Amino acid sequence: MLKIGIVGIGGRMGHALWDCCQGMDGVKVVCGIDRMSDTLPVGFNCDLAAEPALLKEAPDLFIDFSRPECSMAVLDYCVKNHCALVLGTTGFDAQQRELIKNAAKTIPVVMAANFSVGVNVLLNLIHKAAGILADSDLEIVEAHHRYKVDAPSGTALAMGEAAASARHVSLDDVMVAGRDAQTGARQYGSIGFSSVRGGDIVGEHTAMFCSDGERLELKHIATSRQTFAAGALRAARWLENKKPGFYGINDVLGLK
Ligand code: NAD
Repeated sequence: MLKIGIVGIGGRMGHALWDCCQGMDGVKVVCGIDRMSDTLPVGFNCDLAAEPALLKEAPDLFIDFSRPECSMAVLDYCVKNHCALVLGTTGFDAQQRELIKNAAKTIPVVMAANFSVGVNVLLNLIHKAAGILADSDLEIVEAHHRYKVDAPSGTALAMGEAAASARHVSLDDVMVAGRDAQTGARQYGSIGFSSVRGGDIVGEHTAMFCSDGERLELKHIATSRQTFAAGALRAARWLENKKPGFYGINDVLGLK
């Protein structure tokens, strides 16, 4: 039986994960972490990113969909307690990403900006298309619900990384996000990002490869958070008994 702790259990993804775990063989949710105790499932009312001693029962593995500052506290707990970690939170800065990679030298970590299988097929297709359509202008458009706090989304950035690596450039050097006012003409080789926020949009991502006389669009639409929850659980089960290391969703899906 894999004993799971859910970080951000009171949030949208936390609820989707909780639902997904109910009735699933071989998996038991033994604790949850959140500061919004009034929205938690019955029996999970701990607020303990700072106080791990309050854990209802120590898990074998945490699945985290929260905020970067909370994830960093959980990462620290995991390293001290040899607990595996599935990280779905987005919006980490470069320093936090470095700390996560360092921690993965001592514990197994799977990190993915998007746990849907469809998005990860999309990333592979973008990598391929960006290499073949090397001279095309790539624009990435993403849309999410009104409560999302980071932009561009982690998935949009992963799409940009997939294209940049196919073109042998660093995304930091070619990324243009949030154009406004007198921007001048588009720079050759840049990768543009646009973010839409509104209503209850679960997550939509489009890569537009624009050339003279034609345009190729690759698009993914998530209609339910269950797809992310199921993917994160799949990663959790894959991570069981793995050696310490920094793993991606391609490792989980066997696409590497
Ligand atoms: P949400 O706001 O609904 O839930 C986040 C939860 O974390 C909240 O209940 C909040 O109270 C809790 N939390 C935040 N900071 C905390 C702290 N310091 N201590 C304790 N609890 C804390 O957000 P969401 O829509 O569930 O998304 C959560 C994260 O997951 C975001 O970063 C989002 O981008 C990401 N996400 C990733 C995927 C993926 O497939 N990787 C899919 C969807 C969302």
